[in-house]
Amino acid sequence: MPAALSEAELAAGARLMARLDAFAAFSDEEGRLTRLFLSDAHRRAAEAYIGWCAEAGLEARIDAAGNVVARYEGKMLGAPALMLGSHIDTVRDAGRYDGNYGALAALAVVEALAAAGERFDHAVEIVAFGDEEGVRWRTTLTGSRALAGNYPREALHQKDAAGVVMGDALKAFGGDPDRAASIRAGGAVAFVEAHIEQGPVLEAEGLPIGVVTAINGATRLEIGVDGLAGHAGATPMNLRRDALAAAADMALAIEKRARAEADLVATVGRMEVWPNAANVIPGHVQFSIDVRAPDDKRRATAVADIRAGLEAIAAQRGVRATVGTTHEADAYVCDPRIVAGFSHAVESLGVSPLLLPSGAGHDTMAIGRLCPAGMLFVRCKGGVSHNPLESITTEDCAFGLAALSRFVRNFEI
Ligand SMILES: [Zn+2]
Repeated sequence: MPAALSEAELAAGARLMARLDAFAAFSDEEGRLTRLFLSDAHRRAAEAYIGWCAEAGLEARIDAAGNVVARYEGKMLGAPALMLGSHIDTVRDAGRYDGNYGALAALAVVEALAAAGERFDHAVEIVAFGDEEGVRWRTTLTGSRALAGNYPREALHQKDAAGVVMGDALKAFGGDPDRAASIRAGGAVAFVEAHIEQGPVLEAEGLPIGVVTAINGATRLEIGVDGLAGHAGATPMNLRRDALAAAADMALAIEKRARAEADLVATVGRMEVWPNAANVIPGHVQFSIDVRAPDDKRRATAVADIRAGLEAIAAQRGVRATVGTTHEADAYVCDPRIVAGFSHAVESLGVSPLLLPSGAGHDTMAIGRLCPAGMLFVRCKGGVSHNPLESITTEDCAFGLAALSRFVRNFEI
C-alpha cells in the first residue's frame, strides 16, 4: 500500500508547519532562534501557547516547574489522562522543529478533537516542557522530572552565566519553586512524544516517520582543571602548568575512548578559560563532557575510563582535575504497548513501521518513571538538528501529526 494522507491530514500538516514558523519568532536573540529556559522568549512562547489553547477552549496554565499544561477532558470529568507533549526551550542558534514540533503537534491534536467535539473515556493532557536542552543552568529535564515526581530540588539554587538563580527565574516566570517538587502527574496513564529524529536513519531508509524503541542513557560531567596562570612571555615551556593545554589533551583522550566503541558517543561541548587573555597562561579551565550509550553498563564503564584518563593526564601535566557529575539518565526502553500502538498508526498511513532507538535524550525518558511512555520520530533533512539548518518537509510534518492523532484516537486505557 503506498503511503497516503487524507486531504484533511495534509492540510493539518500545513497548518502545523505555519505555526512552527510563527513560533520560531519567539527568540532571545535577534536574527536567530535561541529560547532558553525561563527567558523572556520562553515566557512569550508560553503565552502564545496558552493563547492558542484558549482559542481551542482549553484552559492552559504554567505549572510550578515552568511547564505549560492544558487538559482536554474525556467523557467523564477527572478521567485518567493520556499525556502528549515535548519541549519548547531550544539550544542557542537552534532549528525550529526540535521539541517545538511535538509540543505544537500535541496542541494540534487536541484542537482537532475540540473542534469535532470528540471525547474519549480518558482525558488528553498536553504539555510544553521548558527545560529539556539544559543550556542555561547545568541541569536538564526539570519540567518532565517534576511531573514524574522526581524533581531535582538542588537545581533551584544553581546560577546561570549572569548569576541568576534558577529558583528566582522560575518564580518570575510564573512557576513556584516551593511546589515544583510536589506536582507529580498522578492521573497520567501514558505519555507520548512526537519529535524530529535528529539523526539520519529515517532519511536513509526513505521513511517519513518511525517508532522509537529506546532512548540512550546519558551522563554529563563538569570538569575543573587548575593549573597556574603566568606571564605568556616570561614563563619557559618546561615550567608551565597550562590548564588549557591539559584540557585540550583531555578532550582528545575522551574522543579516542568514545571512538573505540560502537554506539557510544562522548562530546566536550563547552569550555571556559580563565583568565582568557592572549598574554596569560591559562590558570583554570572548566568544561563539560556528555557521554551517551544505549546500554547503561557500557556507559558506566566508559565514564569510569574517561575519569581515569583525566586523572592520568592531570598527574602527568602537574595540574589538578576535579570531576563532578551534573546529570545522569539511564537508558529508557519505550513501553511495548505504545510501540505497538504507534506501529499500528504508522502502518495505517501506508508507511512501513521502522523501529529505531533514539541517540538523543528526551523528556520521554523522565516521564517514563511515571507511566508507560513512547515516542514517534519524524524524518529531518540530513539528520541535522541543534542548528538553524534543521529542516522537515510539510508532508513529513503531516505524517507525524496524522500518526500521533491516529494513535490518540485508537488509545485505550
Ligand atoms: Zn528535543
